[in-house]
Amino acid sequence: MMKTSVCKLCRREGVKLFLKGNRCETSKCAIQKRNFPPGAHPWTRVRHSEYRTQLREKQKLKRFYGVEEKQFTNYYEHAVRMPGNTGENLLALLERRLDNVLFTAGLATSRRSARQMIGHGHILVNDHRCNVSSRRVRVGDRISVTTREKIRSVAKEAFEFRSSYPVPAWLDRDGSTLEARVSNLPARSDITFDVREQLVVELMSK
Ligand code: SF4
Repeated sequence: MMKTSVCKLCRREGVKLFLKGNRCETSKCAIQKRNFPPGAHPWTRVRHSEYRTQLREKQKLKRFYGVEEKQFTNYYEHAVRMPGNTGENLLALLERRLDNVLFTAGLATSRRSARQMIGHGHILVNDHRCNVSSRRVRVGDRISVTTREKIRSVAKEAFEFRSSYPVPAWLDRDGSTLEARVSNLPARSDITFDVREQLVVELMSK
């Protein structure tokens, strides 16, 4: 099966999904150079429908956080059971994934690379090794990098590259110790990703 370039996914969704590490933050980013859909006939008119718009928003969200369909459905069902706005709950649950926290805090160059670091057992939560990328962080959790020199230098390099990028108010980070701490639960205003979560909820609730 032909593998789709991850940049094509961004161009298809018309939004930066940050799938290629540091390159996403540079002028080499494909969507900055070619912000139109991929393919031989990018300008072909597509019939728009409510369903299509909702589906695009859902795909965008899944790809941004790197979540498969089954897992996404579980997040949605959990969000429905929580008090408050389902769309905001859904975003908060996705945002609290350990791989997202690692990337957002600047300790990995992408969510994909964060998943690799976690999967290989290089990340600690409250001083205990955790190899589950989907782990949901809680207030007070401390996320750190193992003492292995090679891994620490990878995290340090990522941190140095991303140190000027803003960190949401619910996370604190310390580049000298390569640690992040969850100081709050994420609010909707902390999530800057351009997505209309209400459309996703409308689709999922059908
Ligand atoms: Fe998307 Fe740009 Fe990163 Fe490619 S380089 S994955 S287009 S954000």
